[in-house]
Amino acid sequence: MNSWPAVMLPQVSLKNQPLQLVDTFKAQVKLPATRFFSVYVCGITPYDATHLGHAATYLAYDLINRYLTLSHTHFHYTQNITDVDDPLLERANRDQVDWRDLASSQIDLFIEDMSSLRVLPPSDFIKVTDSIELIISFIARLKEKDHVYQIEDDLYFDVAPSLVDLSISEEEAISIFAQRGGDPDRIGKRHRLDPLLWLGNKAGEPGWDSPFGFGRPGWHVECTAIALEFLDREESDCVIDLQGGGEDLIFPHHFMSAALIKAVTDRNFSKFYVHTGMMGYQGEKMSKSKGNLVFVSQLLKDGVDPMIIRWALMIDHYQSYREWSSDLLTRASSDVALVRQALAKSEVYPVAGHLSELIDALSNNLDTPRALSIILKWARQSLDGENSHLLVNESGEMSRALDALLGLTL
Ligand code: ZN
Repeated sequence: MNSWPAVMLPQVSLKNQPLQLVDTFKAQVKLPATRFFSVYVCGITPYDATHLGHAATYLAYDLINRYLTLSHTHFHYTQNITDVDDPLLERANRDQVDWRDLASSQIDLFIEDMSSLRVLPPSDFIKVTDSIELIISFIARLKEKDHVYQIEDDLYFDVAPSLVDLSISEEEAISIFAQRGGDPDRIGKRHRLDPLLWLGNKAGEPGWDSPFGFGRPGWHVECTAIALEFLDREESDCVIDLQGGGEDLIFPHHFMSAALIKAVTDRNFSKFYVHTGMMGYQGEKMSKSKGNLVFVSQLLKDGVDPMIIRWALMIDHYQSYREWSSDLLTRASSDVALVRQALAKSEVYPVAGHLSELIDALSNNLDTPRALSIILKWARQSLDGENSHLLVNESGEMSRALDALLGLTL
């Protein structure tokens, strides 16, 4: 489906500095200079868009997108929308609205939020409900390879052969699996961690015809089928270059996705895995069950400048646990005011040294806390009367760099 309008990136030279990221499993990795880089980031389930945890996650991949695009890499970015899933159906049922209307209203809100925050749009923005044929044919391939079994009207994936790749104990995996939508205790399963591939239809739920009966797909297989269709160029032993999402997706979702891809293609799913830290509020991780979600749309409605939200989301590092607070917003607001004051001057402190440091900071695993402190230092130096003999007409250069590298139009 259509995403949101593209944003023109002003050109900034990155001094051929490669981007280094901390991979979830391999520690620090230097991204190779390639002409093409494929990225799949798991998208929203549109029943409660877009809280600040989501926004912070998409912002992290946006920074990677900006950096690599400015390095003349073709960044092919696919993001799905899980627009048929248990939490969405439950919410629609609770609120007595059609699940399609709920999904569509929340997708619109997500698009508005991303656009306001100047997040670059994905190359492909794919609804699961538009991908049912793809998913069915993926499951058919799994079946041909004998990785599928049936309990009543439901199909399961036989995950046991893939468990050698598990980075946590089976016991821990089962506990997380149960908390994140899995059904380890269902009678008849071959292994407690086997995930659902296809759910036979239950009264009142949406469904589609398939060779396995009328029903709907399970969670993990949706992303793998979409990624394989839109991103695989069959050129390497990995289907994509980078898989992203919040760290709560490491297990089971990304583990299961990789296992499914391997079972169908005999290849690894992703060369790199980069996950984002969770966002907290009032001392606890933001979550629907805790009821401590802060929504981008609400902040925008309250008149908060989206560039201040964006700045606030970059004050802490994307892989750390972050805590949202009104103090953070106040701090972002005064930081942005200071930088705007400097940018409004016709003569500013020379930018070359600071730009070079800014690129160093971002190339080092997107060190935005350092990047923002460099910008603030430059702003203070520009506003300090003692530097008046040094000032030059370069505020446009800083402004373009902030826009291109950090998505900040100040
Ligand atoms: Zn996914």
